[in-house]
Amino acid sequence: MKDGTLLIFSAPSGAGKTTLAKMFMEKYPNIQDSVSYTTRAIRGVEVDGRDYFFVDTDKFNKMISAGDFLEYATIHGNLYGTSFKFIENSIKSGKDVLLVIDPQGVSQIMDRFAGRTIKIFIVAKIDELRRRLVNRAEESIDEINTRLENGKKEICFACDYDYLVVNDKLEDAFNKIEAVYLAENLKIKYMNDDDIYKYVGE
Ligand code: 5GP
Repeated sequence: MKDGTLLIFSAPSGAGKTTLAKMFMEKYPNIQDSVSYTTRAIRGVEVDGRDYFFVDTDKFNKMISAGDFLEYATIHGNLYGTSFKFIENSIKSGKDVLLVIDPQGVSQIMDRFAGRTIKIFIVAKIDELRRRLVNRAEESIDEINTRLENGKKEICFACDYDYLVVNDKLEDAFNKIEAVYLAENLKIKYMNDDDIYKYVGE
């Protein structure tokens, strides 16, 4: 069986990666969503095991020592990590997996993961980011300003990615991401002989 592809979306806060990831999963329900581990506190509508696995710092550190994470990062003072086993099992069983992560984690993935990846960096204009974060009303103004400042620094990670998608208009951004995904799946170099020769008539 052909291995699956690891799709990675990263973006500064408010650039719309979560919305785009949701749209993508709705259109392509066979893609697996990776549920990360985090030490941050659970928010109002979140569910443990669905949005994140919420763990304490002690447990998270033990998981780091045990090599359980494909990648992990400290973000706004909390730890976040991707399960190595989940990614490996899914990819080996031919499933594509979507990771929505902070860009700090990407270089760790490239060091540890030899399979096929599509890395997409999503950006939006700073005024638009501020407007979205304020409307989302999940953080205080101080937290929003911290996120915007961190976002400015994160843009330098874009060079580690394969594609840059500007999310000014959601529909356009979605179409671009979809085009990248579909084109990747048409690459002959990733097909086996059966994929190609089944189209040769007798
Ligand atoms: P939030 O706390 O708002 O859910 O997420 C904060 C940031 O952490 C977001 O940019 C999100 O994409 C990122 N994030 C979530 N899970 C992971 C993970 O497993 N690894 C990394 N590196 N970043 C993550």
